[in-house]
Amino acid sequence: MWRAAKNLLPTATNLWKRKVIMDPICKRCSCRSEDVFHTLLECKAARKVWKATEFYEEVKQMPHQDMLSFLQEMASKRTKKDVELIIAVCWAIWYCRNCFIFDGKDENPVISVARAAAIVESFKRVKISKDQAISRHGQISQQTWTAPPNGCFKVNVDAAVKVSEHKAGLGVVVRNSRGRVVAVAVQNVQFRGTVASMEAKAVLFGIETAQQVACVPMVIESDSKEVVDLSLNRKESKTEIDWIIAEIQTKLRIQSQASIQFAPRGCNIAAHSVAKKALEVENQCIWLENFPDHVSLLLSKFC
Ligand SMILES: [Zn+2]
Repeated sequence: MWRAAKNLLPTATNLWKRKVIMDPICKRCSCRSEDVFHTLLECKAARKVWKATEFYEEVKQMPHQDMLSFLQEMASKRTKKDVELIIAVCWAIWYCRNCFIFDGKDENPVISVARAAAIVESFKRVKISKDQAISRHGQISQQTWTAPPNGCFKVNVDAAVKVSEHKAGLGVVVRNSRGRVVAVAVQNVQFRGTVASMEAKAVLFGIETAQQVACVPMVIESDSKEVVDLSLNRKESKTEIDWIIAEIQTKLRIQSQASIQFAPRGCNIAAHSVAKKALEVENQCIWLENFPDHVSLLLSKFC
């Protein structure tokens, strides 16, 4: 954000000034030249994202200015927590703008807001664990599930493995922005490859389930850092997990209604317990609202 504040992001106007491109006009709205303020706050593409937040009315009334003045004004009116989220939303809009310019992908604004909320969450988690490392007297870190933004669904997925029987259970729990469980799915598959391959299968199963029951846009949460990092191209692998990851990436690309993020175990307990149940079923089941007793019991304990 510091870069944005100092007007250093390589927006069209900046690239044009430095003679990298011929035309400083914003590629997304063709309305005016693309400077940092325009890109993050003024452009109609950015406004769609702000509209999905509580800051929309303020942002709409902001006169054209530099980012530093904008942030100073917000900091004088809003809490620290709000300003953190505002900065994360700006980052998510910048990310979304790059996806559009470089990959031609138009992301759903609700997904951008979810991405921003996830950044703030994970930043806090890192901060909490650092603080704990320093003093061991601190409270136990808050590892609790958090609801997705309005109009978005959160899809928690997990795999449970029974190596002795060559079996794996895949569990999916879909919740809405009020935290209500709207769908639960289980699948019993043959255990092949590694535990991470099964975690990747759980992600695929989660995306497919949410698509089937029309729970889009969605944020997928897995507690396998490896699978999330591979899916987001933060890491490379040369094993049999590759083709499952490729399939996840294709689905994420085609959908543009889905994003994936890591969640610590503590935030993924419901999916974990459902995955264990999946070891007992034949094949596959999806339940919508009318959950069987054994599933309702789990949900009442963990959701
Ligand atoms: Zn624009």
